[in-house]
This record gives sequence, C-alpha cells and structure tokens, in this order.
Amino acid sequence: MIVYKTPEEIELIRESGVILGKAHAEVAKLIEPGITTLELDKVAEEYIRDNGGTPSFKGYQGFPGTLCVSPNEQVVHGIPNNVVLKEGDVLSVDCGVFYKGFHSDSAYTYEVGEVAPEVRALLQATKESLYKGIESAKEGMRLGDIGAAIQNYTEDLGYSVVRELVGHGVGKNLHEEPQVPNYGKRGRGKRLEEGMVLAIEPMINLGKRFIVHGNDGWTITTQDSAFSAHFEHTVAVAKGKADILTTFEYIEQELKKKNG
Ligand code: MG
Ligand code: MG
Repeated sequence: MIVYKTPEEIELIRESGVILGKAHAEVAKLIEPGITTLELDKVAEEYIRDNGGTPSFKGYQGFPGTLCVSPNEQVVHGIPNNVVLKEGDVLSVDCGVFYKGFHSDSAYTYEVGEVAPEVRALLQATKESLYKGIESAKEGMRLGDIGAAIQNYTEDLGYSVVRELVGHGVGKNLHEEPQVPNYGKRGRGKRLEEGMVLAIEPMINLGKRFIVHGNDGWTITTQDSAFSAHFEHTVAVAKGKADILTTFEYIEQELKKKNG
C-alpha cells in the first residue's frame, strides 16, 4: 500500500532532509586519503543526534552503522570499518535521518583525492541520471518513466544499471511502497500522484550490471569488480515539477572549499 503524505508531512520530511544534508556535509569535509569509514560514521551519528534526529540505518534489520559506506567496487550497504581510504578511491556514502516521525534518505559518491578520469565521468553521469529521474517524478507520469530516464541516460554513455536494488517510498518507514527501479519503460507502471514521497537512487556500474552479495550479509559488490557509483535524493511528487526534499547544497559547499 502506498502511503500518501499531506503537505505538512512533506515539510517534516524536508526538515529531516536538512539535518541529513548537513550531516553529509560534515562527512564530506573529512573525506581524504588516510581517514577510515568508521571515523566518518562517528561524525555523522554525532551530528544527527546533536541536532535532534536519529540515524535511520543504525539498527535497521541489524545494520551496525549510521552510514552505508561503499568504496570502489562496492555498490551499496558497505559497513563502516577501519580500512583507510586511499588516493584514487571513490566512496558512496548513504545516510538516513529520522526526525519528528519521518525519515529522509540520500546518498552521494565522493572522489578520494585524485581519481581516474573515467571514474570521475561515472560519478558525474550517475549524479546527472538522478536528476533525469527526478524530472519524471511529477504527477501524471508513471514509475516506468523515472526508471527509463535513468536507464536511457546511463546506458547511452556505456554504463550499466544495477537491477536487484531499487529506490522506494519514504515516510514514517524508511522503506515504503512503491519500489522505484532505475530501469524501465516509458508510460509503464503505477501513475505518480501528488503526495507520494520517493527515494530515487541510481546505482550505476562502470562495467557490467551484475552484483554479488558479501559474506557479511550486507555489502553488495560488482561481480566484475569494476567501480560503481550511487546518488540518492528523497523527492515529493508534485504537479509540474518534483519537489526535492533532501539537499546536496551543504555537501557541495564543502567540496568547493576543499577543491578551491
Ligand atoms: Mg539511501
Ligand atoms: Mg534509499
């Protein structure tokens, strides 16, 4: 069952999204060769709790972290650990905040130091594909329009789309209906209506689309070990134009400061 949100509830998700965006920015500041993902996790958890939120992921089906941290060939759901990030890595950081009864969910993939040009291009294309998907998240379109926009954009550039993991509804629960695949056919699937709140989250691979599940029960890795990228926003379906409830603004301010 899809739970439609009132305008007041959507504003609460936006408030949650601001805390989330700022927590991401605290992490963004620190991402450089030499840091561990466990250190990043601690900073994110402290920021969220200090600002009245609760980390959505911590304890979710037993997940141990505030962040899902997925370097390089890891697609999503990596567990924070003591492995040190190194020059040329990329790191997907996925986080959720629960605040005043509602979750928000977003992800960003970072370059660690200088990365290879084809890797940087993958990150840019994945982020762009998220916005292509969001353009379709308006009343009267169909779920398949979102997936088709992401799939067509990324496959035309020679990348591949992970199929087994998908976006989702967000609200009082972190994962609600409907599922939001990053592939699909235009005009197919459920009609999008005002009041739907969706996490749109393309997971795009430099190599083939196939994935493997790690022995830790969480980590998802590309089967061919090629790099993968992941960007995510929580958006409200609206008339005319989707309303993006999470934000990369604070992250990108930090990245600008860092990169001059
Ligand atoms: Mg997420
Ligand atoms: Mg999500």
